[in-house]
Amino acid sequence: MILVSSCLLGNNVKYSGGNNLNELLAEYSRYLTPVCPEVLGGLMTPRQPAEIQGGDVQSVLAGQAKVMDKAGADVTSAFVKGAEAVLELVKDHKVRVAILKANSPSCGNKEIYDGSFSGKRVSGDGVTAALLAAHGVKVYSEEDINEDLLQRIIAMYM
Ligand code: SF4
Repeated sequence: MILVSSCLLGNNVKYSGGNNLNELLAEYSRYLTPVCPEVLGGLMTPRQPAEIQGGDVQSVLAGQAKVMDKAGADVTSAFVKGAEAVLELVKDHKVRVAILKANSPSCGNKEIYDGSFSGKRVSGDGVTAALLAAHGVKVYSEEDINEDLLQRIIAMYM
């Protein structure tokens, strides 16, 4: 099983109520299992955008930093619950690879928004991406993927 951020397949689960359709991934959707950790965590769509504040994702997972939405609500527990739900799927199905949306506070890897809601990015991972990586899942973003790599991932992990 290969996990993919649901919004990348054109599903309208993004905070805005829209999606982040990636045409290449959509073309190969029959090989991909969509997940949206924020929806799995119980958040509604549409919803306020959210960013990690007060530390990095490791601090969030250790209970020392928070995920706050733009209206000032603490949504940390929903983000952690969603990440844990995806991790359960990983364990149940022995998932070893995921292709997750870049820059998201849940799905991002390598870079996320800095918590100021100003569009500035910093090095770091989203909550789900970090939890999966900590359990041995190879996490790619859609920015890493081209057709050749996607075909190799499918051949290797399906
Ligand atoms: Fe997409 Fe992940 Fe955000 Fe869900 S949590 S909308 S899958 S980036």
